[in-house]
Amino acid sequence: MDNERREIAGGWVAITGSKISAVGASGSEPAAREVIDARGCLVTPGLINTHHHLYQNLTRAYPPMTTAPLFGWLQSLYPLWSTLDEESAHVSAWVGLAELALSGCTTSTDHLYVHPAGAGDLLTAEIEAAQDLGIRFHPTRGSMSLSVKDGGLPPDNVVQDHDVILAESEAAVKRHHDREHGAMVRIALAPCSPFSVTKKLMIESAELAEKLDVRLHTHFAENSEDDDYSVATFGCRPTEYLEEVGWCTDRTWVAHCVMPNDDEVARLGKAGIGAAHCPSSNLILASGISPVVALRRAGVHVGLGVDGSSSADSASLWLEARQAMLLAKLRDGASAGSARMALEIATRGGAGCLGRLGEIGELSVGAVGDVAVWSLQGPRFAGAIADPIEAWLRCGPVSAAHVVVNGKSVVRHGELVSPRVDEMLRRHDTLARRMQNFGSR
Ligand SMILES: [Zn+2]
Repeated sequence: MDNERREIAGGWVAITGSKISAVGASGSEPAAREVIDARGCLVTPGLINTHHHLYQNLTRAYPPMTTAPLFGWLQSLYPLWSTLDEESAHVSAWVGLAELALSGCTTSTDHLYVHPAGAGDLLTAEIEAAQDLGIRFHPTRGSMSLSVKDGGLPPDNVVQDHDVILAESEAAVKRHHDREHGAMVRIALAPCSPFSVTKKLMIESAELAEKLDVRLHTHFAENSEDDDYSVATFGCRPTEYLEEVGWCTDRTWVAHCVMPNDDEVARLGKAGIGAAHCPSSNLILASGISPVVALRRAGVHVGLGVDGSSSADSASLWLEARQAMLLAKLRDGASAGSARMALEIATRGGAGCLGRLGEIGELSVGAVGDVAVWSLQGPRFAGAIADPIEAWLRCGPVSAAHVVVNGKSVVRHGELVSPRVDEMLRRHDTLARRMQNFGSR
């Protein structure tokens, strides 16, 4: 996935410290202190997750979501999520990022938009989880400011005051945002969605992001309800609203982007915006199929997102890459959705969304040492000898055999390296029961 998209049969990747120091063909391997044997494997850049709500794994596969589309589904879950605190934010992030790492993810974002009164510093709690696991992390300081009484969707107890949101956003950037090449933590600002924040918060978040030089993220044009809300409330299409509030820039990446018409696709592309494609979530909530092929052609950086574990439930980036390939075939024809296109979205497309092209999402000298190794052996891959990249997504399902982040192993032989997995899963079970029991009261 370098600029020439070279594919090196029998090749190797050398990492020195935290960066890729060389790549090459079989026979020219340098001496190394530690060697990961990737014979019979496909080696790709670590995959990049550009949209998630990690805390939602506490309400994974929760019953009401199976019947309601987006708005009703959200309204049934807000009361449960209002019980989120530092411990549950930390443990859910740890487990969610561990799950992602097993699917070859080395960089993940998170859209944490529920900040109940008195819940504490949830953003720091999840950053500490990523640091403990060794995952590159782009949490966003999410926010909701428009509750039911003001014409929004969420209840009063999960929204925050406008000034508090901006002050806490600025404080989070000052405390955690690392601007260095190879940074392990970066913060973005992320008002939740048009139907849960005021127009003023959209405008002032964009101004603050400009001032602090950080990125912007929000939900966008997710389904027909979202589209109808825009027309009814703002009197315009979602893209016009984005332009009106100063968000249609290359500082922004949006989640979903299912509904744009041809004109909107062109305008989004011209702006150099990013879009997190969340195929499983869009299928489960019956939202629709994002026009990914057209968006890419127009110049949009299309990345891949697993979305929250209450809507997509499974958080495997490999699975999302496969879904992206299949949906592109269904929407735009069999040849439109190839495994190479899906790999591009899962790596370089994600780097474009996060403003880190050339730094993450590729195997090239000077890029970060983030690598996923996929075994292409066993019954699932028998006979798949013609094209290892097509085989990687068309056969399977697979998890990553080895995952290296910033030059350090996070997954070895299909298992997490951390000794804390069992302990964290036990704590997660207790916290998930506590949250779901609250809902059944
Ligand atoms: Zn989402």
